[in-house]
Formats: sequence, C-alpha cells, structure tokens
Amino acid sequence: NPLKRKFSVEANENAVAGAADSGVKVIVRMRPQNQDEEDGEMTVQKTSSDSLLISGQTFTFDAVADAGASQFDIFELVGGPLVENCLAGFNSSIFAYGQTGSGKTYTMWGPAHALSEDMLSTEQLGLTPRILERLFNRIDEEQLKHAGKQLNYQCRCSFLEIYNEQITDLLDPSQRNLQIREDTKSGVYVENLTEESVSTMKDVQQILLKGLLNRRTGATSINAESSRSHSVFTCIIESRCKSMADGLSTYKTSRINLVDLAGSERQKLTGAAGERLKEAGNINRSLSQLGNLINILAEVSQTGKQRHVPYRDSKLTFLLQESLGGNAKLAMVCAISPAQSCKSETFSTLRFAQRAKAIKNKAVVNEE
Ligand code: ADP
Repeated sequence: NPLKRKFSVEANENAVAGAADSGVKVIVRMRPQNQDEEDGEMTVQKTSSDSLLISGQTFTFDAVADAGASQFDIFELVGGPLVENCLAGFNSSIFAYGQTGSGKTYTMWGPAHALSEDMLSTEQLGLTPRILERLFNRIDEEQLKHAGKQLNYQCRCSFLEIYNEQITDLLDPSQRNLQIREDTKSGVYVENLTEESVSTMKDVQQILLKGLLNRRTGATSINAESSRSHSVFTCIIESRCKSMADGLSTYKTSRINLVDLAGSERQKLTGAAGERLKEAGNINRSLSQLGNLINILAEVSQTGKQRHVPYRDSKLTFLLQESLGGNAKLAMVCAISPAQSCKSETFSTLRFAQRAKAIKNKAVVNEE
C-alpha cells in the first residue's frame, strides 16, 4: 500500500539493538527476611550487582536485587525498558517465577493495599501498575513530539487465570474454561476473553482490583495464601500515525504480557490428596512444561540445531508461545527467599533462571 510507510516512534537504542536475536533478560530478586526468619542466617549473599553466592557456588545473571532494592529499582531494571520496547513495536513479556512466599506477587502487583485508594503515591506499588503509568506518560510525550502528525494510540487490557489447566476470565469470572485458538490473522488468542479499553490510571486500577479480587487462591498445608494459579495480564497497544502533510500512514501493534506464575515448589511437600493432588498435577503440567520448553529452547540456542518444541502440551506454554523463543522480548524475574528452610527450592529456582538465560528470542517490530 503506497499510502503506508515506516515511521519511527523514537525508540531508545537499547530497545532496537539486539532486535533480531534477543536474549532473555534474567533478574533474581531476593526478598527481605521476615520476622520469623530474622534471627536465622541468610542462605544467599549478593556479591555484586549481577551475582550471588549460595553454598560456595556463584551464579551470575543480568542483575541481582536483594532486600535493599525498592519497587522503583525493579521497575527501572525491567519495566522501563519494556515500555520502550513496546512503543518501538516489540511484543514484550515479564514472567515472575519462584516458590510460594518468595515475592512474585509483591513484585508484579505490590501488596493489595498499594493498589487501592491513592495507588500512585505508594512506594510499594509493583511492576504492572508502574508499567502502565509509564506507558501513558510516554504516549503523551510521543504525541507532543509528533505534533505535525496525527498519532493515535489505543490500549486494551485483559486479565486471565490458568488454574487446573482451565482458563478463567478474571474480568468476568462467569467465563470459565475458555479455549485457546490460533489463526493466521490473529495468532494465538483466547476466545471470548474480555478486553477493556484503558486510557487512564483510574481505568487500570479498576481492572487490577477486580481481577486480583477474582483471582483464585487455594489453601494448602504449607501456606494458606499459597497461589496455585498462573495469572496473565495482557495489554495490547495499537498506534496509528498519519502525516498531515502527505496523508501517509503507518500502523504498529505490540502486546505486553505480565505473568505471575504459580509457586514452583515441589508439590509433595504440601501433603496434597484427592482433588488437590489432581490440581497439583495439572498446575505442575503448565510449570513443568515451561521448564521443559526452557531446556529445549536453551539447547536450540546453544547448538543451533532445530528441535520440535511442544508448545501445545500445556495451556500456559500454548498461550505464551510467542514469549518463549518467538517474536517477543522476555524478562524473567526469579524471586527467592533468603531463609535456610527454602535453600533447596532456591537452588532449583536459580538453576531454572540459569537455563532461561540461555534462550534467544526473535523479536521483530510489528508494523505495516
Ligand atoms: P509469592 O507471590 O511468591 O507467593 P508474595 O509476593 O506474596 O510471594 O510475598 C510473600 C510475603 O513477603 C508477602 O507478605 C510480601 O508482602 C512480602 N514481600 C515479598 N517481597 C518483598 C519485598 N521485596 N519487600 C518487602 N516485602 C516483601
């Protein structure tokens, strides 16, 4: 179409560099000791800005954050770059991985009270609301910068949960057992999932509060608040730019997926039985399939040999396949606890994080 041509929303250089083969960015975040743990020795020590020591073994990632890191620091590490990538037209995802109680939910949303009332004045606010706030501010800036053009943005959000291999719409919980579809026009999507337009932080706040309230949690003997579901918050951003001088126009779209995974701890610890065991098996299906894919993709990246990647073997990996080795930039926040009692789970999270680091995605700008 001759009326369409490329335009560039000023993307920051980091966003565009590495577009073809983008490595997964892996951040490890260790939460502070809680009251019960305060007198105990810490199992993990941060030794530099990107490495940590556990049982005499050093692990290195893109960044390591300990109790001294604020929510704003974590946002600057992964949230700010995500917004720039997304404005440049890249799909971008953040996954929070780790055992129950390690700080995934705190990192992705912040504590529940931070999301109510004066949401934006709260230091404890997590990544998701901060990302949307930055996105809206940057959209305003871009529109000012392109004053000689008509530049319009549209943002739509959805929020779903995968629990027991079933997808529920968190914005309309009467919609259960939704199905994933795939076609050449839309790619992979969830049929009948609610999408709400957002343009202000008030809109975002309403969606987050509604969705998080509806998020199902199950009680186990290990932790009554244990989160046994995966939640996926998605924001689709579309921009249309028309030059007033010559009428030429361009269209860009990108998708942000913010994913709070179920606790990665081994289920045998929980003493689950009956329905719970079945449920645990299914939750493990999505998580263990994620682990499998990460192994396969790390091998493909390292050896260059092609292999079949069984994305469809779980709901989580089917839905998020673009984020895993495909057309998206991916950051993984691996949350760990400093407690002695969590040491073996911490080790297993760090090994997962190390494998994730080896994956290369193939992100491209989505524009016409
Ligand atoms: P998860 O989602 O991994 O199960 P949570 O996010 O619920 O874990 O965190 C467990 C507890 O630790 C919560 O009470 C949370 O507020 C607290 N917490 C986690 N990370 C931090 C942090 N960086 N600073 C302060 N408190 C934290």
